[in-house]
Amino acid sequence: MATLEIHDLHVSVDGEGGPKEILRGVDLTVKQGETHAIMGPNGSGKSTLAYSLAGHPKYTITGGTVTLDGEDVLDMSVDERARAGVFLAMQYPVEVPGVSVSNFLRTSATAIRGEAPRLRTWVKEVKETMQRLEMDPSFAERNVNEGFSGGEKKRHEILQLELLKPKIAILDETDSGLDIDALRIVSEGVNRVRDSGEVGTLLITHYTRILRYIKPDHVHVFAGGRIVESGGPELADKLEAEGYEQYTKGGAS
Ligand code: ADP
Ligand code: MG
Ligand code: MG
Repeated sequence: MATLEIHDLHVSVDGEGGPKEILRGVDLTVKQGETHAIMGPNGSGKSTLAYSLAGHPKYTITGGTVTLDGEDVLDMSVDERARAGVFLAMQYPVEVPGVSVSNFLRTSATAIRGEAPRLRTWVKEVKETMQRLEMDPSFAERNVNEGFSGGEKKRHEILQLELLKPKIAILDETDSGLDIDALRIVSEGVNRVRDSGEVGTLLITHYTRILRYIKPDHVHVFAGGRIVESGGPELADKLEAEGYEQYTKGGAS
């Protein structure tokens, strides 16, 4: 079973007044098959954690380690991370001109698996997964992210997740901008991947509502650039009832 281990991670971003420390000692271990929710107020550094794991050049690692089965993830290029099995939903948030969803998915699967998936089974797999996500078949022929609505972007993320079957998936604000039906469909996709037992999921969110559909094994509260409390699913209920205020008093965030 693959294990992603984040230890004492410190990350800075270049602001107007020079570098600013955003992550201040993040410790987290995610194993294949586990679902972890990271919840916290806006501006607490959740997306910075996701981008740092993705290898986004804007974020400078100033301390700590991230390993996947002992391999140094921080030393890997973005592509190497994907090949090692770390999936980041916002890895390709930009438009990819002239590349269809269908070609993009097959190229990604080829890069990750080390060989091209057999065309016949692949086409069937893509079609079935899209059906389950209630996506129109014509979506496969559209260019990646070109004019995608918020909901289409999220569905496209889950389509990638289901087809690429990473070891560790990091989903940042997968619930934002989704209406209730889309939220259910997207959550069902995450749950299918989770039920396979082969994917460790880091579900990053500001709101508790997605956790009505996806039951995490572990919940972590993120404030002021670090994890300040960890618990089971009951912690999400507590957050829903009490909010984040207790964690942000005294300027922690
Ligand atoms: P969250 O996802 O929890 O809302 P973020 O990680 O987006 O938090 O932001 C945490 C803090 O880091 C905020 O104060 C934000 O302004 C700052 N920050 C994040 N990314 C950048 C960036 N690329 N440039 C400047 N400041 C940034
Ligand atoms: Mg934010
Ligand atoms: Mg964010």
